[in-house]
Amino acid sequence: MIKTDILIIGAGPTGLFAVFEAGLLKLKCHLIDALPQAGGQCSEIYPKKPIYDIPGFPEVLAGDLVDNLMEQIKPFQPGFTLGERAETIKKLTDGSFVVTTNKGTEHHAPIVAIAGGLGSFEPRKPLLENLAKFEDNGVAYMIKDPEVYRDKKVVIAGGGDSALDWSIFLANVASEVTLVHRRNEFRGALDSVEKVQELKNQGKINLVTPGEIIGLNGINSLESVLIRKTTDAKEDITLAVDAFIPLFGLSPKLGPIGDWGLEIEKNAIKVDTFDYQTNIPGIYAIGDVNTYPGKLKLILCGFHEATLMCQSAFQKIFPDKKYVMKYTTVGGVSGFDGSKKEAPKAVVKAIE
Ligand SMILES: Cc1cc2nc3c(=O)[nH]c(=O)nc-3n(C[C@H](O)[C@H](O)[C@H](O)COP(=O)(O)OP(=O)(O)OC[C@H]3O[C@@H](n4cnc5c(N)ncnc54)[C@H](O)[C@@H]3O)c2cc1C
Repeated sequence: MIKTDILIIGAGPTGLFAVFEAGLLKLKCHLIDALPQAGGQCSEIYPKKPIYDIPGFPEVLAGDLVDNLMEQIKPFQPGFTLGERAETIKKLTDGSFVVTTNKGTEHHAPIVAIAGGLGSFEPRKPLLENLAKFEDNGVAYMIKDPEVYRDKKVVIAGGGDSALDWSIFLANVASEVTLVHRRNEFRGALDSVEKVQELKNQGKINLVTPGEIIGLNGINSLESVLIRKTTDAKEDITLAVDAFIPLFGLSPKLGPIGDWGLEIEKNAIKVDTFDYQTNIPGIYAIGDVNTYPGKLKLILCGFHEATLMCQSAFQKIFPDKKYVMKYTTVGGVSGFDGSKKEAPKAVVKAIE
């Protein structure tokens, strides 16, 4: 049985940063993730997409952010159970928990932090007759490596941030980018909408609004799409393309965690914003997986929630100790892994 102080379910950016904050309080962490690699959505869905709203980084690729987080937590030597899904939870008489994965690996900890993001995510697909035929044959629901589209003709459909951000990014990679959205208004960030408009004016993006893809054609792989301009005078255009990328978002599925007796609202776990604890004492929910009034599903919000969660977890594990963190520093201690590299530590006001 794997034993740790905080068992973190989900190794996305939130779960990874929780390791750092716990490490400052000298708490050990172990992470479970159903995916074979750490990084959550950043690694799985958009590793090469730039992120613009991480404090201190004007621009950082999602994959690089994950690499940096892994580097930041290295001194604290977290354990990983990757490629396994947390399936069941059992509360022991002393209040601690045993979490078992689908492969039977057991983990024991006094604190469980669920950082499960969207859970197991499934892309929302357009209703097109022969869609399945072209999946991985011209049709993709997420962009893992934009280089695949270098000098290719790409049509993206969707009206959210993903569709906008990828259209902007691919405008400098693909030979032709067409963005199709069924409305004239986009749901994404205003700044991205303006950038798309700018690129349209420069002839770098073809914008079709309001419009929708109504057909896919090709013998072995995708060769063209049929676009319907849904203005008053309907008009159908056949466009030769190499790739069709519908970015209609992901339909979240909480998976087995939904059956753990936690209070759930709209597929997310309800928490108290004091410390992001759930209705079950000792189980916390941080990052995209939780909900509370005013919740924003952003990486920086997950970082904040992880920080407060760790403070509360420390108090639960050591009810008699007082540990008031002021800020971080290095020095005094060698790397936990025996290397010369020094581990960050917290400057504390008082420890009793
Ligand atoms: C295309 C796109 C662009 C985005 N752009 C930005 C942006 O610019 N800025 C920003 O701040 N945010 C952005 N986001 C949102 C951001 O990615 C999320 O807020 C962030 O990933 C949430 O991190 P998390 O760690 O809470 O969850 P996730 O990243 O979702 O990670 C959760 C992990 O938990 C695992 N998991 C779930 N259930 C289980 C289980 N039962 N057992 C084991 N493992 C489990 C999953 O496999 C996953 O790896 C974007 C999202 C998308 C899709």
